[in-house]
Amino acid sequence: MLKEDQKAINQCVRCGACRAVCPVFQESGWESANTRGRIMILKGLDCDLSPDLQILDSLNSCTTCAICTELCPAGVNPPRLIESGRRELVLKGVMTGQQKALAGNVLSSGNTFGAKDDRLSWLADRSHILKKAEFVYFVGCMNSYRYTKTAARTFALLHRFGATVLPAEKCCGSPLLRTGFDAHKLVEENSRQIREIGASTVITGCAGCYTTLKNSYSGDFKVKSVSEFLVEHISELDLKRLDLTAAYHDPCHLGRHSSIYDPPRDLIKAVCNLREMKTSRELARCCGGGGGVRSGYKDLSLKMAQRRLAEVPEGVDYIVTSCPLCIRNLRDAGAGEKVMDLVDLLTMALPGEPC
Ligand code: SF4
Ligand code: SF4
Repeated sequence: MLKEDQKAINQCVRCGACRAVCPVFQESGWESANTRGRIMILKGLDCDLSPDLQILDSLNSCTTCAICTELCPAGVNPPRLIESGRRELVLKGVMTGQQKALAGNVLSSGNTFGAKDDRLSWLADRSHILKKAEFVYFVGCMNSYRYTKTAARTFALLHRFGATVLPAEKCCGSPLLRTGFDAHKLVEENSRQIREIGASTVITGCAGCYTTLKNSYSGDFKVKSVSEFLVEHISELDLKRLDLTAAYHDPCHLGRHSSIYDPPRDLIKAVCNLREMKTSRELARCCGGGGGVRSGYKDLSLKMAQRRLAEVPEGVDYIVTSCPLCIRNLRDAGAGEKVMDLVDLLTMALPGEPC
């Protein structure tokens, strides 16, 4: 274990402030499945205790939501430590079948689904792929394969300002990095294409892609969320008012991990009424889908999403968010089409679109 990780583990004073807010503990009630318990497990691993399956479940069921980081009085960053523990176990060959399958899919196909079909199937006009551009829209696996209309709508907005897409985008690497694997091949391949295009800014509508592009890539280009970019151009969008009320769900990787709270809210307020969820911003409840939990522990993940849905205020027409993984998990937990991407809401407010 890295020296800085050992130091951080010892920094934990076992107060349990994190225990009260860990969304996984709220479902399982199992000490080893809350932040403090996970830190104790990491300490055990550092003392060369052998991991068993329960330890894998404990570390792998963390959604990396970071609400514990927000509330820890000792300044510990538990999800960073937990990811480090996952890496260490994977290096020793200790992993679950689901972890292995996910990594195999991503590494063999370049996407989380193991899909072999065209990643740009949603793009009708290929002349919109530019050889040189200032802005690149990084689509991400979910929107490339599952929410293709959202991908097309996002690109339609960004292309107005000269954005292109990568000709052969690969997964950003987030699913590998979150679950303990190496992602350098994907990072290098995407980085090479971004360099060739000469882009100064990469824009993405996925919270997981956002933190990965920002923290695990070279830093040779700026990274912006779609909401940050569009809010800067709001006056050029000519948006009309919709007779709707929306609540905004903060994706953990866009909110707590990246402090992007106002741009999506400003865009929603520009087109309709905004109502806050029972918990929001720094204290927003996780949807339960991140950190590899949706793929590894689906029932647990959906229970967390149901708790999040219980926080939706009365009288709301839509739950709007800026992360396709949150959309997937909240929809599957019972919200259906009531959950939508911010860009889908904005598209309804564009001139010529029926309300
Ligand atoms: S809140 Fe911080 S110091 Fe307290 S138990 Fe959790 S990680 Fe340790
Ligand atoms: S990051 Fe979230 S899920 Fe993971 S230990 Fe902290 S509070 Fe629990």
